[in-house]
Amino acid sequence: MRGSSKRRPEAEQGARLLQQQIEMGGRELFMDRLTREQALALAAAAKSSGADILPVDSGENVKSLPVLPASYEELRSAALSCDRCQLAESRTQVVFSDGAVDARLVVVGEAPGANEDRTGVPFVGAAGRYLDLLLATVGMSRRDSVYICNVLKCRPPGNRNPMADEISACSSFLEKQLELVHPEALLAVGSFAAQLLTGQEKTALGRLRGEVHSYRDIPLVCTYHPAALLRNPKWTRSFWDDLQLLRAVMDSA
Ligand code: SF4
Repeated sequence: MRGSSKRRPEAEQGARLLQQQIEMGGRELFMDRLTREQALALAAAAKSSGADILPVDSGENVKSLPVLPASYEELRSAALSCDRCQLAESRTQVVFSDGAVDARLVVVGEAPGANEDRTGVPFVGAAGRYLDLLLATVGMSRRDSVYICNVLKCRPPGNRNPMADEISACSSFLEKQLELVHPEALLAVGSFAAQLLTGQEKTALGRLRGEVHSYRDIPLVCTYHPAALLRNPKWTRSFWDDLQLLRAVMDSA
């Protein structure tokens, strides 16, 4: 097994900070941990309806896709110079990934925002720090056990929603990233990532979360995007429940 499930000091600090936030809101947040048997049952029952192969668009706005390289560094280089879709014209930087390439967990978000476009690093700013804090409470860190990327590698102008042809154009990079990192588990944050990875593109996020799916036999949990948690703090409990489910599935692996 890669990495360590032991809590480190920052995880304990994160748990304390989160507990303080909960207490300030006067709400109970922590759910009872699943038993090993329950986690194993959930993992065994993981739906097999996940998207085995992510969609590749053949629309007019998308250039033909060259065969993607087999090595991680070559794949990253190909993404950094990609101009397959219109987002290449407005981006500042391609935002490929952050975290450990041999991670136990891959977190997949939607698309870079302004901070990410400026720095070239996914999940920076307030939402990124909040995600790091929440992951630390279950002993996970992008420093050694988490790999983070987005469905789209370039920022949609004005943070608009990704368009279908952009998702299709970019999804082969994500598919190859997941193949090369091959984590023990996946966490999709936000509707676009959840719908793409489960293959259920018309299902609302609220109906995808709270259970274990699978993507190419990798257990997959869907939850809210950390930016949405900052806008809607009442969803933090649901996010926490999903993290506990994820942790239990990983502990049972
Ligand atoms: S969003 Fe993806 S497909 Fe579009 S230019 Fe950026 S890397 Fe290429």
